[in-house]
Amino acid sequence: MNLEIDQDSLTAEIEELAAISEADPPVVTRIVFSPTDLKARAWLIARCEKARLAVRQDAIGNIFARWEGSEPNAPAVGTGSHIDAIPNAGKYDGVVGVLGGLEAIRSLQRCGFRPKQSIELLMFTSEEPTRFGIGCLGSRLLSGTMTPDAARKLVDKEDASLEEVRRKAGFVEPLEDVELGSVYYKAFVELHIEQGPLLEQRKIPLGIVTSIAAPASFRFSIEGAGGHAGAVLMPERRDALCAASELILAIEDAAKASGAIDTVATVGICNVFPGAVNSIPSRVSLTLDIRDTDLARRDTVMRAIEAARDAIATKRYVSIGEELVNADAPSQCAPEVVEALGQACAKHHFASMKMVSRAYHDSLFMSRIAPVAMLFVPCFKGYSHRPDEFASPEDIARGALVLAETLASLAS
Ligand SMILES: [Zn+2]
Repeated sequence: MNLEIDQDSLTAEIEELAAISEADPPVVTRIVFSPTDLKARAWLIARCEKARLAVRQDAIGNIFARWEGSEPNAPAVGTGSHIDAIPNAGKYDGVVGVLGGLEAIRSLQRCGFRPKQSIELLMFTSEEPTRFGIGCLGSRLLSGTMTPDAARKLVDKEDASLEEVRRKAGFVEPLEDVELGSVYYKAFVELHIEQGPLLEQRKIPLGIVTSIAAPASFRFSIEGAGGHAGAVLMPERRDALCAASELILAIEDAAKASGAIDTVATVGICNVFPGAVNSIPSRVSLTLDIRDTDLARRDTVMRAIEAARDAIATKRYVSIGEELVNADAPSQCAPEVVEALGQACAKHHFASMKMVSRAYHDSLFMSRIAPVAMLFVPCFKGYSHRPDEFASPEDIARGALVLAETLASLAS
């Protein structure tokens, strides 16, 4: 099999898709189900049909482009990513996995490969949370991680419901039809830019993802007692901001004490009430984002934070409320898919390294229903979600080649 990626046409397609944007070049903005997003979808479907793939779309707008195998009823081998882009984004996040996946399939077609299992390219709806406040809508529904009822409750900033918006975009079937079940895919592989600096720093062209970290987010509200900054003496105070400060440091300590480099915890928002120079803070709200590759470890850290929360509340005579905003479980990649990627790299004498995906992707949710792994290619300084996001045509083509080799081995 003499696999070859058509680097020039892949690069040209990435540029063409980037031009379908709500903002002027080089900025890419494509919000799910906007006219621009619908135009980009139509463009992608035309490319897939040109490659003689059978295209279907489900009720949430996930696109499946299928190359039928000689055993059409056997579980398929999937690949793909997303093409929606947050405001003021770049050309490569998600797109590399979709167009790289398409080129990988075409390269297999060109060299006469015949898949046993069908190979399916996926474009997931709304990986980005921009419009409905929650990311990976398409893959959450596909994998049954989100129920149709929960999806029906989603509204965008203009108060339009997901139901309304998707129907207007032409997706009218019931959301209940979206879930695929765990026998649909034999394996799923996602090609993606790293969105971090490690590959570039180490001059290694390919990263094989062995686990995908996932966040849990919480809101804390601390209630103390306000009062005049001059009149209330120190022994009498129940200062909510002082308590919040202790809690923030306890969160940092707990994350550091986990003993794992993969545990990270961040307080990104701190709102102080009433927020006056001469008034003791009576109320503070904090957000916590905590991430790990290991769910049990993340839970242990969370329990340590909660023990500190209770101790601080008692010591400072304040009440500290805690609310879970959202929690997704991290995922380990499937050894057999990781192995297939490693062998594909070795076959072409490409150096690779095993790594953790610190951002989450559609693959996190696909891992609930299929053996999954991801392949990363370097990106300039690790920049992502900004207009100067860049991955070189050579690096992308190398990723597509390894993807093609991996799809061939999984579908044989
Ligand atoms: Zn992405």
